[in-house]
Parts: sequence; structure tokens; C-alpha cells
Amino acid sequence: MSGTAPSPATTAAPSPAGRSVTVIGLGPMGQAMAGAFLDRGYEVTLWNRTPSRADGLVARGATLATSVEEALRANELVVLSLIDYATMHTVLGQAEDALSGRVVVNLSSDTPRKTEEGARWVTERGAAFLAGGVTSPPSGIGDPASYTFYSGPSEPLERHRATLETLTQVEYLGEDPSRAALMYQIGMTMFWTSLLSYWQAIALANAHGLKAADILSHAVTTMSANREFFGFYADRIDAGNHAGDVDRLAMGTASAEHVLHTMEDSGVDTTLPKAVLELFERGMASGRAAESVSSLVEEIRAQGAGRSA
Ligand code: NDP
Repeated sequence: MSGTAPSPATTAAPSPAGRSVTVIGLGPMGQAMAGAFLDRGYEVTLWNRTPSRADGLVARGATLATSVEEALRANELVVLSLIDYATMHTVLGQAEDALSGRVVVNLSSDTPRKTEEGARWVTERGAAFLAGGVTSPPSGIGDPASYTFYSGPSEPLERHRATLETLTQVEYLGEDPSRAALMYQIGMTMFWTSLLSYWQAIALANAHGLKAADILSHAVTTMSANREFFGFYADRIDAGNHAGDVDRLAMGTASAEHVLHTMEDSGVDTTLPKAVLELFERGMASGRAAESVSSLVEEIRAQGAGRSA
């Protein structure tokens, strides 16, 4: 649509900040968001590549726009829930001229670098841009205990805070648009590996005739203990203190070997435990045997030094 004049039907002033919002992207997350807005009495305009995903929301009172341009022009506040930032460019690129004057809140996941580039692309077209990282599943949308990281200019955020709080609590991280994406990816780094470790543990249990339900209590206790470990190690790591007074990497490496060998003996996949042991062995090769397991942070940091997102 870039460069073409908007049709008369789509030149109406957008609804002022307040009780109306556009939601673009209707996967499980976008549907939950649109549903939460409807529950709170908002006028909701929708657009999705696959229009049929809007059927249930339209039955509840939402309006399905026939084009991206129509969806953008309907409201000042435009919430995006797409699979990534490339999709934002694909979708909003269909109606660049309609971006001017909007507040685009992108709640899609992607890297900090792509978020920063996306913020620049949107603001160059005359819209304000806020990035967001939603830390809850769709079932947590509308729950005041859930929260979302936001970053970008504070004025449009404060102006639309009440509307955004319809979805979750607003955790504002400052003007740098990439900060919300960074904080979100920090969470996902832990989320995916811990969930995978749970799948690994279930596979091991299954190999020995135990069901997931049989190990649930043990799994919850084990993961909950991380809370104490996180607190204990945070100050020491920030201070560069990897003293082997509580644990030693040599012990951790032997333990990681026991895990790997248990998997091999049980006939389950060893991809994850091999990757874990590889990191421990790298620390040993660097001469850290007598240091704490926390010294592996130094190994990981060294790998990532100087790389951008
Ligand atoms: P989905 O992958 O289910 O939905 C993605 C949306 O992107 C759909 O509306 C889909 O359209 C659209 N889309 C994908 N490719 C294109 C394309 N090429 N052109 C146009 N539209 C496209 O994701 P979710 O709803 O689960 O999640 C949305 C975002 O929220 C993601 O970034 C995700 O990481 C994040 N998130 C999700 C959570 C979850 O538990 N689901 C939790 C926290 C964050 P169509 O319907 O036509 O396929």
C-alpha cells in the first residue's frame, strides 16, 4: 500500500486512546489477547493472515478488518502477536502509509537486534513503537499475576498503560526497544533448557517403567531448589568468586558423566547430556577442576564475547 492514497472509507480518524484496540495476529496468544480485550468491553478490530481464526472472536463482538490497512486505520493502538519480526515486516509492509500516528506494540518474540531494527523501521514510518515480551502462556493473559516486559518511549506506554494492563502487568524496562526482547530471551534461555531437561528425565523414567506422574513430585522439588542456587551464586558470580568451597568442577564433571552413562545404559537419547558434559569437560581442560561449577559461566561467556544477537 505504500505510496498509494488511502481510500475514503479508511481515512477516518482512529479511535482515541481508551477503549478500542487493533490486534494483528491470531495464534493462541493473539486470540487470548483479543479475548481479554473483549472481556473488558473494548472495541476490538482484528486482522489475521488466516481470517477464519477470527470467527470465534467476531461472534463475541470483534470486527474483522478486510485488509491490514483497514486494521491499522481503525485504532491508534495496534497490538501485534506474530511468530517473529520478519512477519511484522511482511504484514505491516502491506500498508506502510497507514502506520503514521499509530502506537505499534509488538508482543512477538525475536532477537534484540531484530527488535531494534524493527523499531527503527516502524518509527521511520511515523508510528511510535513499543516492544514487549510476554512471560505467560495464553492462559495467563487477563490474569493480573502475569507480566510482560515492555521497552520503548515512555509517553505512549503511559498513555496506553491501562489498556495494556488488560493483558498482564506492565513491567517497563526503559527507552531502549531491544531491552524487552533481551529480558524475554533471558527467560526463554532458561525455559527451553529446563523444559527439555524435564522431557529427558521423563524419557529416563519411562525407560524404567515409571510414568511422568510418578516423578512429578521429585521433579518439582528438584526444580524448586534452583531458586536457592540462583540466589546463592548470583552475588558470587558478579564478584568473580568461583571458590571451590561448596562444590568443585571435578565433582560436577563426574556427576555429569554419571547422568550420561545412565542415559546410555537406559537406551535413551544422549544429545542433551552430551552437550552438558562437553561444557564441564571444557572447564576441566581450562584448569578449573578445583573451582566451583559456577566457573562454567566464564567458559560460556568467553564463547559469546563480542558476538551480537
Ligand atoms: P503462532 O505461531 O501460533 O501464531 C503466529 C501468528 O503469526 C499467527 O497469527 C500466524 O498467522 C502469523 N503468521 C505466521 N507467519 C506469517 C506470515 N508469513 N504472514 C502473516 N502472518 C503470519 O504463535 P502464538 O500465538 O503462540 O505466539 C505469538 C507470539 O507470542 C510468538 O512470538 C510467541 O513466541 C510469543 N509467545 C507465545 C507464547 C505461547 O505460549 N503461545 C508465550 C509467550 C510468548 P496464521 O494464523 O495465518 O498462521
